[in-house]
This record gives sequence, structure tokens and C-alpha cells, in this order.
Amino acid sequence: MKQVTVLIPCYNEEKSLPLLHEQLCAVMDSLSHYTWQVLLVNDGSRDNTLAVARELRTKDERICFIDLSRNFGKERAMLAGFDHAKGDCMVIMDADLQHPPTVIPEMLKYWEEGYDDVYARRNSRGKESWLRRKLSLTYYKLLQKASNTDVLQNVGDFRLLDRKCIDAITQMRECERYTKGLFSWIGFRKKEITFDQKDRIAGESSFNIFKLFSLAIQGITSFTTAPLKMATLLGFIVSIAAFIYMCYVLVKTIICGDPVQGYPTLVILILFLGGVQLVSLGIIGEYLGRIFNETKGRPVYFIREKEGID
Ligand code: UDP
Ligand code: MG
Repeated sequence: MKQVTVLIPCYNEEKSLPLLHEQLCAVMDSLSHYTWQVLLVNDGSRDNTLAVARELRTKDERICFIDLSRNFGKERAMLAGFDHAKGDCMVIMDADLQHPPTVIPEMLKYWEEGYDDVYARRNSRGKESWLRRKLSLTYYKLLQKASNTDVLQNVGDFRLLDRKCIDAITQMRECERYTKGLFSWIGFRKKEITFDQKDRIAGESSFNIFKLFSLAIQGITSFTTAPLKMATLLGFIVSIAAFIYMCYVLVKTIICGDPVQGYPTLVILILFLGGVQLVSLGIIGEYLGRIFNETKGRPVYFIREKEGID
């Protein structure tokens, strides 16, 4: 019998988990020709998520959980899940029921047809601010152009992965993870399906605008060096312009003498060049910081406790 793992990273999801379990059970029971493993990764929740997970396990053998030593963030929590998934395939979904379990049978159908990565694109984005939607769309367009990886817009982490993909992802041990990009990067046979994203059932989204911004930078720095090239290009353009201007000033001084003038030009030039330099330095810094973090070679996460997993 083929085994299916359902990976659910959880951060402060005490209220959603029982509801999710109920809906998952309906799906799992209707597909009883598979064996199921529901893998909860408690990502250092501050509420009673761990206790809830433990209680669910006493009721349902299929549930197992990993308790991380602290909050490592969703990207790393997912890697912990990848490392411990036993299934022949794995469905990744959020704990907040924004990803409806009713889509799982369709995913499995395509998996049986031979697809390795069945990803779900959302038709609607649920309750979300206009700004967040707009920014998100622009960002993916940019990222797709800058990196040669197809990081698709409106596609989240809700997907089914074959064992081949799971093994590929677990080989990538980088600390600065951008899993959404990795899914595209590894390739394999992909199939798109669509679903309607619901609103979060309980609790609050842990991705505020700052976290999203940092994730966005993460995506850029881990998938393209285009900003570095842009800094170089900008440097070249400014240098050439400065050289031309220098010639002009030189000739002007020789011909017209040297009345002390041009204070505004001087200030503008200094400020402009200073700005360009700082921005370029900042871009280099972003990459350098990531290299620094990566060279430490630390483990990506630590496990405090695990239940139902060897
Ligand atoms: N999550 C996590 N660690 C974190 C933040 C979030 O494991 O540090 C989980 C969270 O429990 C949920 C999923 O990641 O299952 C998506 O989080 P959320 O719903 O807050 O994000 P959004 O749907 O608003 O993008
Ligand atoms: Mg959510």
C-alpha cells in the first residue's frame, strides 16, 4: 500500500489544528487504499499547539509530530518535515485551513498519472489587503525575470511532491531557504491545479509586512545575482557620466578661467554619488550576510521532541 505524508508546519495553531484534523480525517477515510502519515511540525509555538498535537495523536495513530527547539520559521520547519516524511509522496499544507483538504484527492489522481509535483494555484486570494496583493504580483514578475527560475505567482507551498522531489529538496541544506524557489529549481514533471483559497480559520497570520519583505529579499538573494550586476552597471554609468562632466569642467576652467562657483553642483554630485555607493554597498552587504550565515554551516533546525517518528 502506498503511503502519503501530509506535512503541516504549525506556529500558534492551537485553534485551527482540531478543525483541520476533522476535515483531513474525512479525506483520509475516503481514500483508505493509502496509508497516511500526518506530520505536524511545531515550530516553537507560544500557545498550546504542542499539547493539542499530543492529544490528537492519542486519538489518531496516523498523526505524528516534531517539536522544534524554537521558532525557526516556516521555511526551516518545512525542511524538518521533509527530513522525516516517510511517504511515497507528500502533501504540504498550512494549518489554518486556507488550503482545503478536499483538493488532496485531485492531487493524488495526478500523482498516480505520473506527475512528480502537483502544485495548487489559488483562484482567489481570500481576504487580503489590496497592497499586499499588488506587491506580491509585481514581486513575482520581477523575480521571474531576474532569476531564470519559474517562481510562479499565486502558487504557495500547497502541493503534492513525489518521493523523488522530497529527496531532492532534502539535499539542499542551505540555512537561508526560499522553498518556493527550490520547488521550481529542482524541476521534475509538474502539474498545475487550481483551488479557492479560504480565509484563515482561527488565529492570526504570522507573516506581517516586514516578514514578507524579508522573505522577498530572501527569494531574490538566493535565486539571482542580478542586483549585484545592476550595482556594477550603475557604477559604470555613473563613472562614465562623471568622466564626461570632468572633461567639461576641465575644459571650461582652462578656457574661462576659474571663478569660484558651482557649490550647488558639488553638493548634488557628492550626495548623488554617496547615495549610489551606499545602495551598492547595501546590495553587496545583503549577499555577504547570507554568505556569512551559510559558511557557518550550522544545522538548519533542532528537534526537542518527536513522537511517532523514528
Ligand atoms: N508557520 C510556521 N512558522 C512560522 C510562521 C508560520 O510554521 O514561523 C506556519 C503556520 O502555522 C501556517 C503556515 O506556516 O501553517 C502559514 O502561515 P500563515 O497562515 O501565518 O501565513 P499566510 O497564510 O498569512 O501567508
Ligand atoms: Mg495562512
